Parts: sequence; structure tokens; C-alpha cells
Amino acid sequence: MGKTLYYMVHYAYLPQIICHSVGGFLESFSANRFCHICLVHKQNAQHIFNDDLVELRNRDNYSQHVELNNPPLTGIKEDSCLNSLNFFHITENVCGDVMHDVLEGVAPLELKLMLRHFVYDEQLFTEDQLNSRIAGFDYGLNNMKSKPSAIIHLTSENPIRQNASQMWCLLLFLPFLIGDFIDEGNKHWQLFLLLRQICDIIFAPVATKGLAMLLKQLVIDHHTLFKSLYDRPLIPKHHFMMHYWRMMVYFGPLGKLWCMRFEGKHAPLKRQAQVVCNFINISKTLAFKHQVQAMFNWKLGSPFKDKMTVANSFPVLLGSLKEDVCLIDNLKAIGRDVGQCSSFHVAHSVTVFGQRYQTTCILPLNCNENGELVFGEVMHILPESENLNVLFFLRILVPKFFQNHFHAIAVQRTEDFKLIGIRDLIDFRPMHLIFFNNDIFVNPRYELV
Ligand SMILES: [Zn+2]
Repeated sequence: MGKTLYYMVHYAYLPQIICHSVGGFLESFSANRFCHICLVHKQNAQHIFNDDLVELRNRDNYSQHVELNNPPLTGIKEDSCLNSLNFFHITENVCGDVMHDVLEGVAPLELKLMLRHFVYDEQLFTEDQLNSRIAGFDYGLNNMKSKPSAIIHLTSENPIRQNASQMWCLLLFLPFLIGDFIDEGNKHWQLFLLLRQICDIIFAPVATKGLAMLLKQLVIDHHTLFKSLYDRPLIPKHHFMMHYWRMMVYFGPLGKLWCMRFEGKHAPLKRQAQVVCNFINISKTLAFKHQVQAMFNWKLGSPFKDKMTVANSFPVLLGSLKEDVCLIDNLKAIGRDVGQCSSFHVAHSVTVFGQRYQTTCILPLNCNENGELVFGEVMHILPESENLNVLFFLRILVPKFFQNHFHAIAVQRTEDFKLIGIRDLIDFRPMHLIFFNNDIFVNPRYELV
């Protein structure tokens, strides 16, 4: 006790409205200078999609605008209290939030416009057909909690009605839901595919300068095509996308800097707030309940308990498993002393840090000699509880071609196999195979570098 703690705020990632509130900016997005990153006028934001062409906010012009005290002209109403922190300035250390901007802003809007066009203008399919396919599609085990809801009354103001993870899931699988109704080269579909490409980059767990440059161009192409297709203004969240490439260079992967986790933390508190009926001091009640829950978690549960959970693991003779010869050779290659009659624990599924893996799921491997991403289909799961490791015995899937219309990779099963530890995977998220039009597809959630 009595020690002094030192801390430093390196960056903040905030929903735009919160950022404007604590950053001293006008809180209305209909303001003339509505952006906290640049000084673009709201009318120019409708045709400038390259942020090299706008003046960015910085420490100097921010302090000048505070002194000027003319919010309609500058978009700044007061100095931010956060600027008193060492090494922090509101114009330099605030990142955007791709969840609110894209998954809860741009994507629902564009999906609404596109589906209205396909259903009512081109009459390619009906709302009932769409909802029937949404309800009946196999989204895979790991997407079941995010299964999209039905889209009701496309003519209404907000027909999409998905939360952020449902919207991400819908974006991923929409090509397999309605792609067969749509001709290749359809401009409205091209706009959707551009949005998918943008999402692949902004949700990627890795950021490179090359990806940032690609993102910059994709956003320009996307916004230009949107303006040519729809007779309506871009929303402010479209404009914020224009700065993503720069944030990616400054801060790193944007998918790691979003508010999704905070929203998950808020969700139980919001539910409790609705049911406790406290009209006097709701903050105190929620803080107390949160502390009780935290105490329960730490007292009765081990924080390390959920590192790895193996359901229904059982010992089997290695010689009785499929592709046993290859499996035994691979195990010997990593130093396990095993033979046909050796007993080994196998499992149908294993959960590691909350991520569930099961047989038949697809895992991304490294690139082959042609630089193409190779995948593996899990045949056997060999958990090693003593050192918190899981070995996956995989059938190698090689890419045949990238199907742009479905934004997915067509793959082919091979007779090659591989044993890989969970720590050697290039990405922790499992996928599943999609069988469509006599081909087998894999659709990664984001760019795998
Ligand atoms: Zn801006």
C-alpha cells in the first residue's frame, strides 16, 4: 500500500458519438465539420473519398479552433479534458470503431438498398424466398449463435434488424443465400462485393501497409460506385471509412480496436437494468451486482478453468483410426513413441479459450509453394491436457480457384494429411465447408496474411 501507480493512455477507441462528446467536438453529425479526424465540410464529404485531399485535424489547428470558439465553423465547442493527459491528444490518439461504423451503420443501410433493388426493381427473388433461405442455411457450429434473423418488410425504415455479430454472419453467407439469383457483373452486387473486400481487411487480425493501401483504394471505389447507384447522400459513417487506412497504419489491426467486447460486457448490465426496477440509484445497484458477480467468478471458479475443455475424450487404439499409418508416422515425427497398438485419447470436440473445434471443421494452414492459402479438414482431435495442447490430424484441402461472385475459395480434398498443434495455426477461428453447385467452398471471415 502507499505505492504510486503510473499509467499512460496510448489510444482510445470510442463510438463516434462518445468520441465527439469527450473530445470537445459538436455532437451532431449534421454539423458542417462533423468529422473528428479531418476538417471536411459536410457537402464536400459527398464527393471527396480520398483523405489525402482533406486537411486533417492536428494539435495546432485544434487549439486555434478552441480559441476561435466558433463551433458552426470549426466543429469544436471546447477543449477536451483528455488533452491534459501526457502523451495523448484527441486528434492523434483516437481510433475509429468498425463495429458501429460498418456492422451497425454502413452495412445495414447498403443491404437494405440492395435487397430492395433486387426484390422490387429487378424482381430476382421475393422476401419470403430470402427469409426461407436465411432460416434454412447451415451457418456452421461456430456461427449458430450469430444466425441472422428474418428480414421483415423491406420497405420499412429499418428492415435488417441484426445485431453486429449477426450482421457480420449475414455478410459472410449472403452470397450463398442469394448469389445464384444474381447475374455476374451486376453493379449492385459489385458494390456488395466491394464492401466484403473492405470488411476482409478491417476485421483482419493482422495489418500491413500493403493492406492499408488496398483498403484506401477499395473505399474510394466503393463510395464512388454507391454514389453512381443510389440517389441519396452518403452517411457520416461512410466518410469515417475513408480514414481507416490511415488508422490502420497508426494503430494496427482495426478489428482488435473495436467496441464489440465492451458491448458484450454491457449486455448483462443492460438486461439487469431493465428488470431490477430501481428508479433511485440504478448505477449503484448495477455496480453492486457487478461486484457480486465478479466475486462469484473468482471465488468459486478458477480463472484458468476454461483454458481447455474436452468433451467425451476416450482412449482408442491408433491402428483403429482412419489413415492410421499416416497419423502414426506424423506422431513419430514429433517425438511420440507410438505404434499400431498404442492407446491415444481422441475427442470429437474440444474447446480452447472459448473457441470450439470439432471433427470436420476447417482450419487455415500456411501457404503452399505457389503462395496460395491451404486449409485442413479436421479428421482426428488429439487433446494433450497435461501441456494444454491439442493436436489436429488434418486432410489437406488445396485451393482450386477464387469464386469472386461468392467471395469464397473453391477447394479440393487431397490424399495428403498433416498433424499440427493448435499453437501452430495461423488463425484460431475454425470454419466449415460450404457445399454449393457441385463445388466445395471455404469463406474465411477476414484476410488471412
Ligand atoms: Zn474526416
